[in-house]
Amino acid sequence: MSITEQSAYDLVVVGTGAAGSAAALEAAQKGLKVLLLEKGRSTGGSSNYTEGLFAIDSYLQKEQGIKVSGTEVLKEEVEYSKYKADSRIWRKYIDTSAETVKWLEDQGVEYEGVQAMGDGEATWHIYKGMGDAVIHKALQPKSESLGVEVHTSTSAIEIKQDSNHAVSGIVIRNEATDEEQVVDTQAIVLATGGYLNNPEMMKNLTQYDTSRLVPVSSGKGTGDGLNMGWNIGAKHYGTGMAMLFGGYLRDPNEPPFKFIASQMNTAAGQQPLLWVNETGERFVDESVVYNFSYAGNAMYTQNKVYSILDQGVLDKMAADGNFMGLGVYVKRGQKMDKMQAEIDQAVADNKAFIFKADTITELAEKMNLPVETLTNTVKTYNSYAENGTDQDFGKDSEYLVPVNQGPYYAFELQTGAFCTMGGLQVNTKNEVLDDAGQKIDGLYAAGNDASGLAGDTYGPNMPGTCVGYAFYSGRNSSDNAAEYIKSTVKI
Ligand SMILES: Cc1cc2nc3c(=O)[nH]c(=O)nc-3n(C[C@H](O)[C@H](O)[C@H](O)COP(=O)(O)OP(=O)(O)OC[C@H]3O[C@@H](n4cnc5c(N)ncnc54)[C@H](O)[C@@H]3O)c2cc1C
Repeated sequence: MSITEQSAYDLVVVGTGAAGSAAALEAAQKGLKVLLLEKGRSTGGSSNYTEGLFAIDSYLQKEQGIKVSGTEVLKEEVEYSKYKADSRIWRKYIDTSAETVKWLEDQGVEYEGVQAMGDGEATWHIYKGMGDAVIHKALQPKSESLGVEVHTSTSAIEIKQDSNHAVSGIVIRNEATDEEQVVDTQAIVLATGGYLNNPEMMKNLTQYDTSRLVPVSSGKGTGDGLNMGWNIGAKHYGTGMAMLFGGYLRDPNEPPFKFIASQMNTAAGQQPLLWVNETGERFVDESVVYNFSYAGNAMYTQNKVYSILDQGVLDKMAADGNFMGLGVYVKRGQKMDKMQAEIDQAVADNKAFIFKADTITELAEKMNLPVETLTNTVKTYNSYAENGTDQDFGKDSEYLVPVNQGPYYAFELQTGAFCTMGGLQVNTKNEVLDDAGQKIDGLYAAGNDASGLAGDTYGPNMPGTCVGYAFYSGRNSSDNAAEYIKSTVKI
């Protein structure tokens, strides 16, 4: 019995996140016979959790009177990457981004509007129902209505090539039955979402100690696309980058996603308040949280990081709203009306990440930090708050809130991570390149499997660029695959 209905397809798309779903639909709209594979039991990958995509000059930005220069964005992004990003890829991505927003709308995607993040530009096109709705109410039903054959619990495991090294097929496996099958195809789009969830690859390809990261993702990004590409000679390129997003709580008894919309987690991990390290010292201007990736980098410089909050600042955030949010999960300025109950519950449950005490001395003892150092840190910080000047790191006085009203709370923070980006080098057609910079005929990479967008740190000041690139590069791959397939037809 075979896994698929046919033995041959024009195009096989591996992965059903934003990149794969967009690729499959685009290809079907171009008249290709498409097989779409998903190794998980459900479709959508990490893209299900996304809030919105990047674009410049979209109809929504025009309606809202938002004007952002594409060339300025390009310059900023390339500079931010220390010139590791590819200017040509950014140019094409930016120039087609408005059309991507419209194309998604034409497929049935609805938008809430466009917004900024931190002090960045208003480029984030927030969709209704998150990425889950984009994929399951728009892209996937449309694809299926055009005849795309979708298989879940089915992994791609190996790419086959002909004697000219062009793609000729793919080996797939039914994860429920272990049955394997070779499917003939002329083109493949690899859209498997990167390798954040592959500890071995994270260890070998990045500088990160995974014991300190909390991956908040689908859990299925195990680097399959990269390995399949590398196994047939694709260049190892642009690995090492994980999209960190600052402080996050870890509870070994709960799945990481539990805290994404938690007000306690946002209060503990995402505010520009007081942080100390394992010796009880401050180490950075905590308002670095305006850029969640920078915040992740800063935290990662220490062995341990704790945020210290007093009852005064908790009451202030409950009454007046937080200082910074976490995407649209907990919005910036939102009144933290559930936070105290969540904190009280965590204390009652003796959660390992939280400490509560009536004095700073007692807090330091409970945390096993040097009492004198922590007491001095808090004393000095309070003097800065009183004078309105952070003499150590120059934090804006708006965020210098004193820590002087018990009870006091400390939260042990880990660094959250959403995804990796990069691994396969692509050109502006999303064709995968080999070590000599030559394209591998018929092989395309999209979304987080493709390199070119970033250096070693994600740039959240231009929000939405990661999933925006996934939609764009998925479609771009299929457009070029369609051209390639046409070019191989013998007359
Ligand atoms: C909580 C959260 C919120 C985010 N919010 C945003 C946002 O608002 N804006 C933004 O720009 N970015 C955001 N990101 C980043 C964003 O998720 C990624 O950029 C984007 O989802 C990447 O899409 P993708 O299609 O490359 O990968 P994914 O969505 O991860 O999809 C890859 C799919 O491939 C499947 N797969 C893997 N291996 C195989 C195989 N061998 N065979 C078959 N299938 C396979 C996986 O199971 C998965 O379903 C967010 C990430 C997270 C985790």
